[in-house]
Amino acid sequence: MHAREQLYIDGKWIDSLGKGSIDVINPATEEIIGRVPVGSTKDVDKAVVAAKSAFDSWSKSSVEERIELLNALSNAFKERGEELAQTITSEVGTPIGYSRVAMVGTPRVVSRSYAKILEDYVWEKEIRNSIICKEPIGVCAFITPWNFPLHQIIGKVAPAIAAGCTMILKPSKEAPLSAFILAEILDEIGLPAGVFNLVSGHGSEVGDYMSSHPDVDMVSFTGSTGAGVSVSQSAAPTIKRVTLELGGKSANVALEDADPVLVAKKAIGACHQNSGQTCSALTRLIIPESMNKQVCDIIAEKNDSYLVGNPLDEETRCGPMVSLRQQLSVTEYIQSGIDEGANLISGGLGMPDGIEKGFYVKPTIFANVTPEMKIWKEEIFGPVLVITTYNTESEALKLANDSIYGLSGGVWSKDPDRAVNFAKKMRTGQVSVNGGSFNVSAPFGGYKLSGNGRELGTHGLDEFLEIKSIQL
Ligand code: NAD
Repeated sequence: MHAREQLYIDGKWIDSLGKGSIDVINPATEEIIGRVPVGSTKDVDKAVVAAKSAFDSWSKSSVEERIELLNALSNAFKERGEELAQTITSEVGTPIGYSRVAMVGTPRVVSRSYAKILEDYVWEKEIRNSIICKEPIGVCAFITPWNFPLHQIIGKVAPAIAAGCTMILKPSKEAPLSAFILAEILDEIGLPAGVFNLVSGHGSEVGDYMSSHPDVDMVSFTGSTGAGVSVSQSAAPTIKRVTLELGGKSANVALEDADPVLVAKKAIGACHQNSGQTCSALTRLIIPESMNKQVCDIIAEKNDSYLVGNPLDEETRCGPMVSLRQQLSVTEYIQSGIDEGANLISGGLGMPDGIEKGFYVKPTIFANVTPEMKIWKEEIFGPVLVITTYNTESEALKLANDSIYGLSGGVWSKDPDRAVNFAKKMRTGQVSVNGGSFNVSAPFGGYKLSGNGRELGTHGLDEFLEIKSIQL
């Protein structure tokens, strides 16, 4: 049992001024496996005072000190890697192999990438008669979701440390446990008191209060588009900087000359990773009409044998949904696909065969999906792939861009130049060509309702800096 009784504020573990606690539930067993305090607005006030007072000296800390701390953070993720992977698997339900790589390995590499960026980052330059200086923005509030809990935190904490900012983190209530391990690590590696503060609690109270707090200079939010709107509204009166990483409904497009077998084989993993609970998942597959039968046959067969089960089994590819709420929501989407007349070619309603407990759904594939259908338009956030066909490349582009979101995407073609040309026309923040892999140094973020601002790499660091011009 991970029982966390205190919050981490100003370099100390202290009692929360709020009432009660939040239970953390293992979605594979439905058992309570942890508990964190319900923080209050008074706790946020304390954390903001600590962050504000630490900013004076931390903003002037040397680049060498920040590099050392970021490398120490990365090393600590390696040392406590198995504990972190097991903890995140127990709260999110992510298959353990994927947890080790994506939930812990990526934060380790991201922390180190910021140490590397700092080695030759240009803080000052001259433009004609001006000196242009980059300076840390100040006190930052971070509000994060449950699906990649540590990765989404480190995408904010590591560049904020690199920039010289101080911060207050509110993790999700579904998967807050890795944030408490992170606080222990930051304390152990000697991050000065007040630079990082942790207040767990409810979004509507702690998250909203952080967003509106006059002494917070920036809020960086990752989560649903609806909550992102609310954070932006709360932040508006104090004109703080707001960066948002929100939802997605990303298109995966096979051009006419793509290899249908490769497209079909890769499409399932690109949609179902982390049980489909991935904001950048490629959830809409767009293929030439001529490929329809071949691609659908392969995908249906592979999806039928996609291994769903206990996330602690090394063989498992798909674990449960994170919560009962998420299980019900994904089930409603599957029902809506059936009701609206999409062609259900694999999966469907009910629990996967042989599983009786846990918040599971069947990985599901719908073919012949049309743009009016809800399952085409809305983010399902579960292992549900929708497939549609086209006759001309301009039709394919129109379908790809037919979304309120624009977070990620994929293009397949035997001719990489043709694929890149198509990728440039997609209204989205990231595109993978022929399965090109995730790059922790490339900017990540969305067009349209998928958000504002970028995380990761140098672009992610720039978000935490103010720019000053001094005229001579
Ligand atoms: P959510 O919006 O419900 O919650 C995210 C965080 O916001 C939580 O910490 C929550 O407590 C807090 N919150 C909720 N309402 C708030 C409010 N009014 N004011 C302040 N804080 C509030 O999202 P979720 O269900 O935890 O996560 C799933 C969503 O996140 C999906 O839509 C997914 O696409 C998106 N997401 C986006 C990215 C990205 O990088 N673009 C990454 C992961 C998840």
